[in-house]
Amino acid sequence: MTVPASSVAAAVDVLAAAADAGATVVLSGHVQPDADALGSTLALAEGLRRRGARVVATFPAPFTLPASLGWLPGADRLVDPVTVPDDPAVFVSLDSASTGRLGELAALLGTAGRSVVVDHHASNPGFGDVSVIDPEAPATVVLVAQLLDGLGVELDRQLATCLYAGLSADTGSFRFGNTVPCTHELAARLLRTGIDHAAISQRLFDTAPFGWLGLLSAVTGRAVLEPEIGAGLVWTWSSAGEARSHGLPSDQLEALVDVVRSTAEADVACVLKGQDDGSWVVSMRSRGGTDLSRVAVSLGGGGHRAAAGYSSTLDLDGTISRLRAELCA
Ligand code: AMP
Ligand code: MN
Ligand code: MN
Repeated sequence: MTVPASSVAAAVDVLAAAADAGATVVLSGHVQPDADALGSTLALAEGLRRRGARVVATFPAPFTLPASLGWLPGADRLVDPVTVPDDPAVFVSLDSASTGRLGELAALLGTAGRSVVVDHHASNPGFGDVSVIDPEAPATVVLVAQLLDGLGVELDRQLATCLYAGLSADTGSFRFGNTVPCTHELAARLLRTGIDHAAISQRLFDTAPFGWLGLLSAVTGRAVLEPEIGAGLVWTWSSAGEARSHGLPSDQLEALVDVVRSTAEADVACVLKGQDDGSWVVSMRSRGGTDLSRVAVSLGGGGHRAAAGYSSTLDLDGTISRLRAELCA
């Protein structure tokens, strides 16, 4: 890992001081949290609680927990962001590439005594007093494991379940190129606590309501292949309304891109997800030949080389036209 030991130590100092004083620490991941955002939030929250801090764990509005993540240990203690105190001793941002991804909670960066940013997005500008940012870390939970070690919190099944969820999600079950030897070493350490990794994987990757099959069929059925765009583009779209018409909450749109990305003829796969306000949330995946972090940043979003995203207020045609232009740039 390339995060300087000094930045981990500096973050540990801030967090340990707050814990020792029994002070309030607010933690949040990014909007529409995934397993890494929630896993890192819940693991660090529980670790700090055990060290004596008053912990408030939350995530930005809309405060609706995806069904695939509601089982994470400690998820029942997450609180609505509107109830969060605005003057905690410390605010910790986890897995959030930018202040915009924190929604209203970004205000805490100015009102908390200290702020700590823990993240693995290369595009993160480092918006806290203390930054633990490592673009080579495959998941934010890797950095949280280092913080828990620094705080002297022993990893047990509860903490390891949260960490493993984030680690397996962001590495695609250790298939993606971000997996390095120490990723497997951390996974081995987590397995040794006795976690049920098969159950975690099944809940994260292999569980959806029957209605998802109908949604998948509609969405893959309208996929468009454009081999001449960049190194090849395959794209399709859905919407929160379409998910509802299949009896599904909108977080069921998230896994669609994992099917679309298997298209051999396209280096880039894209799913445009229509929101109820008319805007589009765009998920992109690369098979390796295209730097999507660059593409997403130039379109106002962020992410990693192989997985990135952004939002668009243009209509469907306008959104895909801008993406085509950026991929050909
Ligand atoms: P997703 O397609 O939502 O699974 O996101 C893929 C990756 O891009 C994740 O690492 C996200 O954190 C990141 N990402 C998605 N949308 C944005 C955004 N608007 N700004 C910054 N990073 C983003
Ligand atoms: Mn994330
Ligand atoms: Mn992540």
